[in-house]
Amino acid sequence: MSSLFVISAPSGTGKTSLVKALLQTGIDLSLSISHTTRRPRPNEVDGEDYFFVDREVFIQMLGRGEFLESAEVYGNLYGTSWQWIKEALAAGKDVLMEIDCQGAQQVRQVFPQAISIFILPPSLASLEARLKQRGQDDPATMTRRLAAVREEVSQVSKFEYVVINDKLEEALKDLCCIIRAERLRCVRQLTQQHALLAQFT
Ligand code: 5GP
Repeated sequence: MSSLFVISAPSGTGKTSLVKALLQTGIDLSLSISHTTRRPRPNEVDGEDYFFVDREVFIQMLGRGEFLESAEVYGNLYGTSWQWIKEALAAGKDVLMEIDCQGAQQVRQVFPQAISIFILPPSLASLEARLKQRGQDDPATMTRRLAAVREEVSQVSKFEYVVINDKLEEALKDLCCIIRAERLRCVRQLTQQHALLAQFT
């Protein structure tokens, strides 16, 4: 039995660094690689960071029902391959998805066993500072981004866990605890520890 973990966070929360650090702990999670119509950024590799596809291909895949979830984020389309997720779970792997809140909502509907985690910044001011520091946005984009952040944070109660990313090491420990606790659930232990339990029958 394996678990599907879904991590969502408003932009500027440090989610990507957190996920990277989580995978580097050797926690044995398979990261789902999304399809997107966004152009690759410098250093991004097709098939590693994303599967970069054009809009037409994405729409065709959507029409064929190939996505577990999909969403438009800041004008680009993103989606998660259902087949890949199914195969990874069937192979006994724990899977991690790093997606936006709209996508998380769809995953919860289609796959209610998914464990969803929301990452919050320690304050609005720190999030604004992080976004400004990135220097990616003009003032109008920044205003749009902050409105989107408010909308995303309004969804927080739909998630099962909330982690505050103030200090990365602390947030990382919190994530590891969540994953460990989920792996120790009775229903999962019953399937994994049958040899041990059989000794007592
Ligand atoms: P970026 O383009 O900066 O890599 O990602 C923009 C946003 O899209 C982030 O919030 C990221 O988590 C989200 N995202 C990435 N992949 C997917 C996906 O497959 N589905 C959904 N719904 N969101 C995604």
